[in-house]
Amino acid sequence: MAKYILALDQGTTSSRALLFDRQGQPIAKAHQEITQIYPHPGWVEHNPIEIWETQLYTARQAIESAGIKPEEIMAIGIANQRETTVIWNRFTGKPIYNAIVWQCRRTSELCENNFTENMRTYISENTGLLVDAYFSATKIRWLLDKINNGRLLAQRGDLLFGTIDSWLVWNLTGGKLHITDYSNASRTMLYNISNLQWDDKILSFLDIPSHILPTVKQSSEIYGMTDPALFGTEIPVAGLAGDQQASLFGHTCFEEGMVKNTYGTGCFALMQTGNKFVRSSHKLLTTIAWGLEDKISYALEGSVFIGGAVIQWLRDELGLLHSFEESEEYASQVPDTNGVYFVPAFVGLGAPYWNMNAKGIITGLTRGTNRKHIIRAALESIAFQTNDVLSVMQKDTNIPVKTLRVDGGATSNKFLMQFQADISSTSVQPAPVAEVTALGAAYLAGLASGFWKNKNELPSFSRASHTYHPAISSSSREKHLNNWFKAVKQAII
Ligand code: ADP
Repeated sequence: MAKYILALDQGTTSSRALLFDRQGQPIAKAHQEITQIYPHPGWVEHNPIEIWETQLYTARQAIESAGIKPEEIMAIGIANQRETTVIWNRFTGKPIYNAIVWQCRRTSELCENNFTENMRTYISENTGLLVDAYFSATKIRWLLDKINNGRLLAQRGDLLFGTIDSWLVWNLTGGKLHITDYSNASRTMLYNISNLQWDDKILSFLDIPSHILPTVKQSSEIYGMTDPALFGTEIPVAGLAGDQQASLFGHTCFEEGMVKNTYGTGCFALMQTGNKFVRSSHKLLTTIAWGLEDKISYALEGSVFIGGAVIQWLRDELGLLHSFEESEEYASQVPDTNGVYFVPAFVGLGAPYWNMNAKGIITGLTRGTNRKHIIRAALESIAFQTNDVLSVMQKDTNIPVKTLRVDGGATSNKFLMQFQADISSTSVQPAPVAEVTALGAAYLAGLASGFWKNKNELPSFSRASHTYHPAISSSSREKHLNNWFKAVKQAII
């Protein structure tokens, strides 16, 4: 009986592979950075071959360092950076260009100028997304327009499009499968998330032939087997999800209204909304959480562009810190920020403001302000921005967020976690394992392959001892929030 699940976590900065046992414990890990390619300001690319090779290498390394045989792996699950776009030739398997990364802004002008108001409304009503260069649709359009004979080859049926999950599965199966899952499809801006079809109207608006698109599958099912040449045996590929959805699953947010927030460079909050496609009145995105057991679960999503990155900025640009950890130490050495508020709108503001022109601002400076106050205000800004997202999620769904499940690098900061609990008036529960995104992918693959028979059989982790509870008065919370909103107004110009 196979004893492990192999999870591949293909992220923006690295490819990772982890082997999980039946208790959900990672018994081996490997990771490799991938090269960030910046051909022009605002453009971001990855080499798809490097993505595949690092992912394969880390998978083999994890197997080797665990000292297990590939036959002991029951199935493979994949979590991946979302929206990043690859187009390759179906006959040679070669990409026609680098992968265009989700962060890449090369199509922002196209998004600003070429969509009619009617089309924008149609897209938001049917894909759940706002027209933006982040999503795959305009990246595909760019590739077909700009790369030699792109459109001709696509029309002739030579080209295939995929997000990173599709690209990895294609390579893992030796070119046998061209598939994606609901969660990844829902980030392309081409997928109609209410009728669960690629949307012909958007495809024809962007002049993208539908036959380049992958077949959309559930997030948990046995799709096919790996090419035996890769691991010396065939292993079922059985789970796929975009990284934020995989993290939602890894946090076992299985019930409607459960919310997770990941505190990395940016922050990503998702609320599971069950089988309901909730339309936001506050510029949150509606997305598919996963397709499981022939049912779709939806989610509302809001992102904060500058989360942990504000601490990086204090360290690297202002030199106020030597390490991330120091931020907690300094913040805790002062009783408050001494009236300082910091809105880190370095690249505009995400939900619920969606203001790309907002600029960063530090307000309330006096002769008595010192660096500890600024550091504390920076940490508080991560929680304030997250709170802005959580509060509109509650308004859109009428579901109070009683508990927030959290993961990501900045969750090791106890000051930040306590402040989040205080300002959002909610319990904050850090993930009981460090790699919750990979764990989510492992769960999806494990459920499809019978490694775990059903959701009740998934390992349960106790979170109680780590939980942060709100500990400030409502008047103090209100005062803080009023001051924050005043500062945000000043940042929006
Ligand atoms: P990503 O996956 O986006 O690279 P990680 O989950 O690795 O992000 O988290 C890294 C981010 O978390 C960095 O931006 C860093 O500033 C922040 N961070 C890490 N440790 C701390 C800490 N102790 N306090 C505050 N922020 C932190």
